[in-house]
Amino acid sequence: MEKKPCGCGNKKQENKEIVREEKNFSETPLTHGNSIMKGISMVQSYAISLISRGISAKKVEPTTKKLRTLSCFGNKDDGGDLPPCSHLMKSETEGKFYCGACGCGDKKTTWLNGKDTEYSKLDYPILTCPITMPGFNNYSPSTPDEWKEPISRKKYIETMRMSDVTKVNITINETPLSVLEMLQKIQQNNNETNNGQSDA
Ligand code: SF4
Repeated sequence: MEKKPCGCGNKKQENKEIVREEKNFSETPLTHGNSIMKGISMVQSYAISLISRGISAKKVEPTTKKLRTLSCFGNKDDGGDLPPCSHLMKSETEGKFYCGACGCGDKKTTWLNGKDTEYSKLDYPILTCPITMPGFNNYSPSTPDEWKEPISRKKYIETMRMSDVTKVNITINETPLSVLEMLQKIQQNNNETNNGQSDA
């Protein structure tokens, strides 16, 4: 399986396994500078994403997250034809994945997936993609080169029916993380109180 550089110069990350199914689609080229955020590096874009989260840990609306999920993970797990992005990388942490092209590395804040009680990178209200895929704030439509067979993954997503996009499985938690943390603390306090009373 061919390995692609992640763009951050970190050999340890570049040697990690790339999650890629058999190649049925052409590649959309890396176009860091060709975006609405022209002139801003991917790391700077990520810093903007962090700010967009805000103190209330607000999340992007579900349809955008479904498009981002398709762009990164494809839909083979949901019975579709679209394989994962060739830049998707397995984290050293079991079950987590991160983008190998954005240069932000493998850490909790860069994981693309998470449980509904977690805040994954795909939840950020503002988020850019190194290949400007659908659902990201720097999205740019596929070029005519990508319409030729085999079409690119980007072109495939662009021509999907909305009803198929809405079927995409995502973990969306509409309750802000800060509220969840507060609820968990209350639950923990109640448990401690109950345990104290039963010990008495
Ligand atoms: S953010 Fe873009 S380049 Fe990175 S894994 Fe997702 S679709 Fe691929």
